[in-house]
Amino acid sequence: MTDTPKRKLVIVGGGTAGWITAAAFVRLLGRSLDITLVESEAIGTVGVGEATIPQIIRLNAILGLDEMEFVRETKGTFKLGIEFVDWGRKGTSYLHTFGDAGLSLAGAAFHHYWRRAAASGHTSDLWHYSLHRLAADHARFGKLDRVGNTAMTGLAYAYHFDAGLYAAYLRRYAEGQGVVRHEGIVQHVTRDGENGDITAITLDKGTRVEGDFFIDCTGFRAMLLGEELGVGYEDWSRWLPCDRALAVPSERLPTLVPYTRATAKQAGWQWRIPLQHRTGNGHVYSSGFISDQDAADTLLAGLDTKALGDPRPLRFTTGRREAFWAHNCAAIGLSSGFLEPLESTSIHLIQSHVNRLIQLFPAQGDGAAERAEYNRRCAAEFEQIRDFLILHYKQTARDDSAFWNYCRTMAVPDSLAHKQALFASSGRIGRDIDDLFREASWVQVMLGQGVTPQAHDPMADALSDAQLGEFLGNVRTLIERAVSGLPTHEDFIARHCAAG
Ligand code: FAD
Repeated sequence: MTDTPKRKLVIVGGGTAGWITAAAFVRLLGRSLDITLVESEAIGTVGVGEATIPQIIRLNAILGLDEMEFVRETKGTFKLGIEFVDWGRKGTSYLHTFGDAGLSLAGAAFHHYWRRAAASGHTSDLWHYSLHRLAADHARFGKLDRVGNTAMTGLAYAYHFDAGLYAAYLRRYAEGQGVVRHEGIVQHVTRDGENGDITAITLDKGTRVEGDFFIDCTGFRAMLLGEELGVGYEDWSRWLPCDRALAVPSERLPTLVPYTRATAKQAGWQWRIPLQHRTGNGHVYSSGFISDQDAADTLLAGLDTKALGDPRPLRFTTGRREAFWAHNCAAIGLSSGFLEPLESTSIHLIQSHVNRLIQLFPAQGDGAAERAEYNRRCAAEFEQIRDFLILHYKQTARDDSAFWNYCRTMAVPDSLAHKQALFASSGRIGRDIDDLFREASWVQVMLGQGVTPQAHDPMADALSDAQLGEFLGNVRTLIERAVSGLPTHEDFIARHCAAG
């Protein structure tokens, strides 16, 4: 028996998207594919993208990475959620954590019990019962699967890391497993005269790279899928009006907190991402509502530590490609669309698209059925995340700027309007089964942005008033005990994964 000849996979682009794609493909399909990656140092990468969500742990497991080495090499920290400051109303804040508050009981989610107690005068907010909130407030972090010997789940987490070091780390991994890298600028794309498939690319120095399948990781430019194959772009900026960002690093925070912070501003919002060696900051804003100069001044005035350079500008249009895979080419990363970084979803989308493409990679033929399925699922995923992001802008009481007045009064997709109405009525969540965001995420953002459900689920009436008080008290005691047993985030890093 002889091995079937290897097919040629060509990845164009070596940013986060290109190297995640290369690493995952070589790990899972390396026996049947020859993989080449082309990138250009002269063009460079976006170089931002430093906060993640817990799904990245799955990617690391697939790649077989050692977690502590990965954090050390990328000068990373741990992330329990995102603190939203001034979003629902100025002067308020909430933490969208990666975990559940409290404990579901007798068929009803915990927030229904909390809502029942709140309706009869109980004043603590939902986060009073959140393990993640308490750990974040005390800057503590550790590996905790569950709270004591209860059914309460422990700490779910993700990472913050240096985007440049992350791409370099994955590059070493992918090249170590056999991916061949070419340095150069793609200047010409050759297509099959009959079926229109891409057959080769030619670089500026004349190198020709032939392939059976191409992955476009060229960033916002989408050189292959957009420019060459002519796949259009669906613009979502009427719902997500931010279209520019300024990014600037600053000195390390005096205390390494285990969460990202997103502070709403006059015409957008500002991120703060704590790393071991520096802090990542950026101001995402809508150019229709603020000048670039005012946006830069806002960013610098909002830093907690001294800036380490000048703000770097980035431009984008929120939306997605009309198709994610056409002919023999799929776009992954910024080339496939962009959802602004409010919930740190872009790197997840890269990972999810790579995973889906590997699962549907055509074994033979032109893969028309696989392509249709891939496009259907990627589109649905983009739309679900889009709705979750819009919720942060729409569900606000802010009326202190033209930007917030626009967001508060804009029409939103029916799919989101339905979710808002359902939650406002009875605290229930109408999420799709494959939605990236869990019920707990929707609940936290709805409540955090200021929606108070009119009623709770009647299943939460199973407890008497006295039992309800005892239940809430026990939850609080258990999480306090669990958090007091955790090391500080700083100590955890020093002990396990401090960068040199
Ligand atoms: P790029 O980084 O732009 O890479 C493109 C690659 O293509 C480069 O290697 C370039 O050299 C190559 N290339 C382009 N044209 C050619 C050519 N002609 N020939 C050869 N090579 C070529 N995501 C998160 O998950 N979390 C975050 O916190 C987050 N924050 C963000 C903040 C901002 C302001 C922005 C804009 C994005 C953020 N993202 C975030 C998204 C994240 O940065 C991207 O998803 C990620 O960096 C992937 O980018 P990319 O690899 O698709 O594109």
